[in-house]
Amino acid sequence: MKVLVINCGSSSLKFQLINSEDESVLAKGLCERIGSEGSRLVYSTHKIDKKELDKDLKDHTDAVQMVIDTLTDKEIGVIESLKDVDAVGHRIVHGGENFSKSVVIDDEVIKAIEACNDLAPLHNPANLIGIKACEKLMPHTKMVAVFDTAFHQTMPEKAYMYGIPYEYYDEYKVRRYGFHGTSHSFVSERAAEMIGKPLSETKTIVCHLGNGASITAVKNGKSVDTSMGLTPLEGIIMGTRSGSIDPAIISFLANKENISVNEVMDILNKKSGVLGMSGISSDFRDITKAMEEGNERAKMTMDAYCYSVAKYIGSYITAMNGVDVIAFTAGVGENNPYIRKEVCSYFKYLGVEIDDEANSQRTEDAVISTDKSKVKVLLVATNEELKIARETLALI
Ligand code: AMP
Repeated sequence: MKVLVINCGSSSLKFQLINSEDESVLAKGLCERIGSEGSRLVYSTHKIDKKELDKDLKDHTDAVQMVIDTLTDKEIGVIESLKDVDAVGHRIVHGGENFSKSVVIDDEVIKAIEACNDLAPLHNPANLIGIKACEKLMPHTKMVAVFDTAFHQTMPEKAYMYGIPYEYYDEYKVRRYGFHGTSHSFVSERAAEMIGKPLSETKTIVCHLGNGASITAVKNGKSVDTSMGLTPLEGIIMGTRSGSIDPAIISFLANKENISVNEVMDILNKKSGVLGMSGISSDFRDITKAMEEGNERAKMTMDAYCYSVAKYIGSYITAMNGVDVIAFTAGVGENNPYIRKEVCSYFKYLGVEIDDEANSQRTEDAVISTDKSKVKVLLVATNEELKIARETLALI
């Protein structure tokens, strides 16, 4: 069977066509600048390296049409017709409290996703546009919604309630939701497999360290706490996001700089994190390089970043009353040995010991702790698209 995985952003559409028999990627691509000048599809298949195809894409329906046309193209396509796509899996950012697992999409589901738009105003409307575009162009193909928040719906109240008046939860559902659920779920399953223990008996801390980053405590296969909150702004220091700060900083800065709350929020989302701290870049490759060249602010940034990751790990060890595995994943987690080692250095007291040779290599998935280490430390390549394809197939 073949599953088309779609991830719609406000002006982009990412896709992968996955062959479920061997879980290989037949084709993948990214439609960029949808609705603006210079829109294009960057496309590759198991046979063709990256191809840039310029085309005027005025909306997401145009983008889905282009994806279908390209996938079925005689020269560069990988399927004969649309009939070869057995199902579509959509990544949906926010499912609120309505969705604790993936679901087959129908009119009721679309309404329930719409009801969560307030909670993710930048993402959910774009995700819905993707669903509607696919519905229009492939009305007979089954579609499944896979939510970033669903995996975290197992968190207990004590982990998801904020210390603010209860009426805001009652009225507006203000609570911790958490994100990157597809990745945390995929990586925790893979980690259990790698250490040869049943998931149902494993205490895992997944560090999804990308541009956006979150850490999750996964106890016996269930998320029991996670660092992102109502929105993806909470938690550790990220590429451009501040992570958790004293909430009073918002009004303090608004008053000092004579700017609105929304402007402060924009700064916290787009100009903060390691970008704002270092003044160099949001890309950890640039920060690492600057630090190695002796730049002191880069070193301070890196120290603060690793410390913030370590503090969350420490608190989740407490939350689970122990830990079997710490797993690093996503762009930074998979590619930055310095950060992995530095973060783990805070857990020497627990008997965590990194194997420098294993840590410095970049293999697909690897155990990077020594045989003696009391806690296994892993590097796991996340694969959100594959997880979405698996969930989609399971439901159809
Ligand atoms: P993500 O959001 O998961 O795509 O992660 C983006 C971050 O991963 C960027 O800040 C990069 O610095 C980091 N990253 C991606 N690839 C590499 C690499 N090959 N080496 C080091 N860092 C990388």
